[in-house]
Amino acid sequence: MTTWEIVVGLETHVQLKTQSKMFSPAPTAFGAEPNRQAHPIDLALPGVLPSPNLRAIDCAIRFALAVGGEIARRSVFARKNYFYPDLPKGYQISQFELPVVAGGSLSFSLPDGSERTVQLTRAHLEEDAGKSIHEGLAGLAPQTSGIDLNRAGTPLLEIVTEPVMRSAQEAAAYARALHGLVTWMDICDGNLQEGSFRCDANVSVRPKGSQALGTRCEIKNINSFRFLERAIEYEAARQVELIESGGQVRQETRLFDPDRDETRSMRSKEDAHDYRYFPDPDLPTLVIDEKTIDQVRQSMPVLPEQARLRLIEQFRLSVQDAGLITSGRDALLYFEQTLAALSSLCSLSSDKAAKLVVNWMAADLSTFLNRSEGLGYAQAPVTPLRLASLLERLEDGTISSKIARDLFAQLWQDPEQTVDGLIESQGLRQVQDTGQIDGWVEEVIAANPKMVDEYKAGKDKALNAMVGQVMKKSQGKANPSAVTQTLKAKLEA
Ligand code: ADP
Ligand code: MG
Repeated sequence: MTTWEIVVGLETHVQLKTQSKMFSPAPTAFGAEPNRQAHPIDLALPGVLPSPNLRAIDCAIRFALAVGGEIARRSVFARKNYFYPDLPKGYQISQFELPVVAGGSLSFSLPDGSERTVQLTRAHLEEDAGKSIHEGLAGLAPQTSGIDLNRAGTPLLEIVTEPVMRSAQEAAAYARALHGLVTWMDICDGNLQEGSFRCDANVSVRPKGSQALGTRCEIKNINSFRFLERAIEYEAARQVELIESGGQVRQETRLFDPDRDETRSMRSKEDAHDYRYFPDPDLPTLVIDEKTIDQVRQSMPVLPEQARLRLIEQFRLSVQDAGLITSGRDALLYFEQTLAALSSLCSLSSDKAAKLVVNWMAADLSTFLNRSEGLGYAQAPVTPLRLASLLERLEDGTISSKIARDLFAQLWQDPEQTVDGLIESQGLRQVQDTGQIDGWVEEVIAANPKMVDEYKAGKDKALNAMVGQVMKKSQGKANPSAVTQTLKAKLEA
């Protein structure tokens, strides 16, 4: 039986964070009434002259420096000719033979902690098209479609990888890392719902060990990491099944339907356009000089990859933990602020404090953030200061970890509450009083002769069960290590 290998290359459209369009002064802000933000230049009305947005070019340079790509000192804007209702001017200004960025690579870690580097082919500047709207057109007949040209001319950086990814998981991890990088660099707002970051996935399969590439299909316009992973998984399975049943993959463009969890053919390569690319006669060669590159270089932040390695070295964190903290600038800021506050409140070693903070970020904080659509670290109701005071009370033994988790949920619900306020008003202080703990322990021993025998016969599980019962009696307020010690002492006496 043949073992199949999946091959994936991604093309990502990253909307650049500029005030105005790629070639016109119209605003790029999302959410305006339809067709209020399309400038005559975006529509290529007769007599207009486009001029490139310098901020967008800066973004491309920043990206190139971040991924170690080659910045073309001279690159060319070209017309890609095709007509579509959302592109009434009949061509898109893009870059073809001479893109602004060549090569580079992106390194990231997978959820299992292994590391990958993906080679980039190129990145080029282009303008976006408009948008067709097929539903929700108030006051119009049900079958009517509308065209909104507000997005026409919005600056995009299209980033293309080599066909080097070998699984859907790897492709999704790459896309997440790229998203993390462009938002970190502040060249993209990263808003997936609004279409600021969209992937096309090229997928093929080949017998494992084979060097030649199989025929690929391209799945267009995916704006969710989860959908990207599912679409690639489905598509690769479809191709394997097709080949194994004697068929052949046709090169075509497909769409992913998340409701039915499948990809569907949109158009085959035979219908593919000849785009008749040629240099746009209205735009001169894009020249980028050393001075401009130097200026951008001066303003570069520490990169996520550098920050990740620094965290691993400084606090001896695992690859996964460091990857979580550097998944975005906001995550790193949250970590740093919580750690700083915690270090000023208690005397944990910096390694231990860092590990404690990242554990809470990975568990409770992530859970609550995932549940609250649209909330990021910066808007978390449990702020770094509140989390630090919670962890302080956990560390100084005032509360148990179970109570701490309950309190985290309460702090999330009610931004007015303080950690100490909740502990006092609900009487949550951990019981350290040995008299009280002794009492509970004796009750549990008296009520469970079987467990006592088992423990004496060498079964450690029995001890854990008894600790659990004491904790229950105390309503989670007994100090678990005090309980364990007392139990052991009494059982062995
Ligand atoms: P196009 O111009 O049609 O978009 P490109 O050659 O520029 O095609 O490739 C686009 C993307 O497809 C790149 O990311 C590339 O790595 C990927 N790709 C090319 N061939 C294959 C293949 N056989 N299997 C998977 N991905 C591929
Ligand atoms: Mg393509």
